[in-house]
Amino acid sequence: MFSYRHGFHAGNHADVLKHIALIASVRYMTQKDSPLWVVDTHAGAGLYRLDDDFAGTSGEAAEGVLKLAEAVAAQGADSEQALAPAITGYLDLVKQFNREGRWKIYPGSPFIAQHLLRTEVRDKMKLFELHPSDSTALAAHVAQLGAGRQVSVAREDGFEGLKAVLPPPSRRALVLIDPSYEIKSDYAKVLAAMRDALQRFATGTYMVWYPIIPRPEAHDLPRKLKALGNSFRKPWLHATLAIGQSEDPQRKGGLSASGVFVVNPPHILKAALQPALPQLVELLGRGRGKGHVLESGGG
Ligand code: SAM
Repeated sequence: MFSYRHGFHAGNHADVLKHIALIASVRYMTQKDSPLWVVDTHAGAGLYRLDDDFAGTSGEAAEGVLKLAEAVAAQGADSEQALAPAITGYLDLVKQFNREGRWKIYPGSPFIAQHLLRTEVRDKMKLFELHPSDSTALAAHVAQLGAGRQVSVAREDGFEGLKAVLPPPSRRALVLIDPSYEIKSDYAKVLAAMRDALQRFATGTYMVWYPIIPRPEAHDLPRKLKALGNSFRKPWLHATLAIGQSEDPQRKGGLSASGVFVVNPPHILKAALQPALPQLVELLGRGRGKGHVLESGGG
């Protein structure tokens, strides 16, 4: 059950898509005066080294954030094609965890979101992480950054823990549901958690990440999430990024596509992703099968 470690995947193309959507959403949602709660049901370790044994073994960031940063640097400031603000905003935020010109540290979703939260209006963050080592590392990183008053870490099942935090006192929340899907039952648990969460707190923003892999449960998940959003009469947004097949035999068979499904998306999110997704396909795309989807509905 605990074979998945996000350190092997940190900064890959799936993180790029998920974290771009997360940043655009949290940025928008922290413009209102009332406090925002961010709940991360599957938080990971929070901070990752891109040059350690984990990342070095898989090299996935080389096909994600590092490739993006390199391509953007090579394009130069006077390129004809302006980069989408969602992409530049993402790279700028990751840069802030690194010394000038170096890309050694990659922030996971907890620290990406925490970076954007406000202390003066008492935004809060609730993190769940079940893996013993990763939850210990996460708690240590939170303490190291002095974020303990704003952020709480629980070594608990995030699907179960979510029930206790909804609805939040401020009635404003963004919930990220980002399991590893290493066990098939995660797909059904995501749906059940979403149904339960919408019953407890219908106006929350819910962001689900999922892998696009040849498995019936993965294929069915976005279809079922659309049906769920529609049955609650809630607006939804669905974005996918596929980087296509690799010619490199060592990388063949790895994850090449993923999606984010958002119920009650911030209304700027579609406009933020619209120019960003084709640029991500162009900058990260490898070969056959590359592309993106951006669709919305419900409401
Ligand atoms: N959200 C993180 C990010 O974007 O940086 C990445 C999370 S990673 C995809 C999934 C994490 O969920 C892993 O660290 C895994 O140990 C953890 N996990 C697995 N099952 C869990 C559960 N039922 N509750 C909480 N965490 C769980």
